[in-house]
This record gives sequence, structure tokens and C-alpha cells, in this order.
Amino acid sequence: MSIPLVVAVDGPSGSGKSSTARGVARALGLAYLDTGAMYRAMTWALLQRGTDLADVEAIARDAADVVLASGTDPVAPTIFVDGVDVSGPVRSPEVTANVSVVSAVPAVRSRLVAEQRNAIAAAGQGIVVEGRDIGSTVVPQAPVKVFLVADPAARAARRAAEEGGSDAEATLASLARRDAFDSTRVASPLTKAEGAVQIDGTHRTLDEVIDAVVTLVREARA
Ligand code: C5P
Repeated sequence: MSIPLVVAVDGPSGSGKSSTARGVARALGLAYLDTGAMYRAMTWALLQRGTDLADVEAIARDAADVVLASGTDPVAPTIFVDGVDVSGPVRSPEVTANVSVVSAVPAVRSRLVAEQRNAIAAAGQGIVVEGRDIGSTVVPQAPVKVFLVADPAARAARRAAEEGGSDAEATLASLARRDAFDSTRVASPLTKAEGAVQIDGTHRTLDEVIDAVVTLVREARA
């Protein structure tokens, strides 16, 4: 049985994961899964429900009822909660400020990791998956694993530009907080997976990073 092609792209916030993963998927005709959007959608749903995010048991209980659906087209990825398209709302500052707390809850992670594995299994032509724990936990057997990094200042500048020119200093502080939380949590912390190739995008253009990953995929397939 042939193993489906899975390209795992992990790294901290603002390292260029999304643009890189989508560009690689487009270049190779693969599907694309944004696992960060799934954690964001879960956070959005719990905020809507008024769940007390200081209460781990309440998060685990309420999260069990939320129905997520991810669209895996790299040209126009989508994320739905209970049938509603929340692709825009999941990028709100309120969701960004709370997502690390929700994603640290083991019951949330085990549920979403199972859904991610199902989406990967369903993507017959292969898939590029971006997140924090894809190469370490979700698909440790992925034939291509990339750990994308960039200097904090470059990451903050990129994120601030994406957010419509918001304050780079404040963005830098917010990224540092989220990285610290994501890297030190007990359940599947952000870490470079065994066998992952680290790519530093600080002084490279997006196209150069995409080309580097496409080359790794072609080498793995050869
Ligand atoms: O990638 P993005 O910044 O949208 O991810 C939002 C948050 O979702 C991260 O800060 C992290 O807390 C969580 N996340 C995670 N595991 C993943 C993807 C995202 O814990 N595989």
C-alpha cells in the first residue's frame, strides 16, 4: 500500500507557515490543512458559548459538542463551526488572545488531532499540513517535515502587515507570549520534530522558502 504524501510544516507564529504551506500545496497540486484554524475555530465557538476559559473541565466539556469542518483547498481554505463559515472571525484579536489556553487542554488536542488524522487520510492526492505538532505528534511518519523559523522582529513585522499595519512592537510582545505558552505546555508543545529540516525564512523571500520545501518534497519522492 502506498503511503499518501504528507508534508508537515511546523513553526512558531508569524514564521510564514501559512503562506509557505499554501504555496507548496498549490505548486504540487496537493490539499492543505490549517490546524491552527481548527484551534482558533474551537476557541471562537467557546467564546460564543460563554465558556469560562479559566476552567479546564468546562473547556473540555463544551468543546465536545462543537462540530468543525475544514475546507482543504489551498487557494481558498475555509473553516466552519456548526455549519457557519468562521474563516474571518477566527482571526480576531479576541480569538488570538485566547487560543493558546484552549489549545493546551488535552481533551481538545486529542479530539482535534483525531480529526486532523481523518482529514489527512481522506486527502488522496496528498496534503500539506501546517501547525505546531504535525511532525512530532499528528503524523510523525510524514515523509517530509519542515520546521520554519524566522527572527522575532521579522515575524512581528510580517504579522503586523497582515493585520493591516498594526503596531509591530505590540505584535512582537503578543507573539512572544503565545510562543512561550505554546512551547512550554505539557500536551504536544511546539518543538522541532525528529527528522524535521529547519528552514530560516528571515532573509529569504516567500518564493525562495516555497522552492526550498518543494525541493525537499521532490527529493523525498525520488
Ligand atoms: O497557526 P496559528 O497562529 O493560527 O495557531 C493559533 C494557535 O493554535 C497557536 O498559537 C497554538 O496555540 C494553537 N495550535 C496548536 N497546535 C497546532 C496548531 C495551532 O496548539 N497544530
